Amino acid sequence: MRGPTIYHLYPGHLNLYGDRGNIIALQQRARWHGLETEVVAVQPGSRVDFAACDLLFMGGGDETAQKMACRHLKEHRHALLDCINRGMVILAIGSSYQLLGRYYTAASGEQYPGLELLNFYTEAGTARMIGDIVTRCDFLRVPHTLVGFENHAGRTYLGKGVRPLGTVLRGYGNNGADRTEGVLYRNVAGSYLHGSLLPKNPWLADWLLQRALRYRGIACRLPELDDSIENQAHRFILKCCLSPFYRRPSPGL
Ligand code: GLN
Repeated sequence: MRGPTIYHLYPGHLNLYGDRGNIIALQQRARWHGLETEVVAVQPGSRVDFAACDLLFMGGGDETAQKMACRHLKEHRHALLDCINRGMVILAIGSSYQLLGRYYTAASGEQYPGLELLNFYTEAGTARMIGDIVTRCDFLRVPHTLVGFENHAGRTYLGKGVRPLGTVLRGYGNNGADRTEGVLYRNVAGSYLHGSLLPKNPWLADWLLQRALRYRGIACRLPELDDSIENQAHRFILKCCLSPFYRRPSPGL
């Protein structure tokens, strides 16, 4: 069956800590669900038709890549906003998550505008927030946990109209203070969780695929897959991180 069209933005520039593993997980899980997906690699500066995209993915990267992505996507801001409001699915990790907001202030004090697609802002602190992270997501009927790895100087503060993707159980999250992690607005999910995120969190991968199918007008329930290996990996990280003997590294310089 025809599955979602996935746009992978700047694969060579935004791929911190193997974030492209999220594309591999989405493609492989779609295949296991009997869905043929098409993955379109979007390069910097290229003309992009977001109308053909069902699920957009951007990974983390350094500030140079973040600025490049912002410059290029700024030209497509209205089209992106329209797609988001019609339900297009986005998964943005790390610096790609940050650039969806109003602005990003770097550690140097330089402030540069984000895409202003979602109501939040990010300000870099001096110490980096690094380590394994576990969060709890309450946006589905049944709560789920997410496990991953974070490494960011940015402190993100959510505004009105958006909700966190999850609540921090172990780790720093958006800013190390308010126990929020990531952002969720309609079908747009932003997160600091690298790892990559989806292979050890199969429920989120299937939620994204399900939403992308619905956006494409295909309302169907994806059958349960045998996720015994993925869930074993998930539970291992949970056990390590939630153990009383777990020592989280203090914010690194
Ligand atoms: N450069 C950004 C920061 O340090 C984002 C890093 C990332 O993508 N994890 O906050």
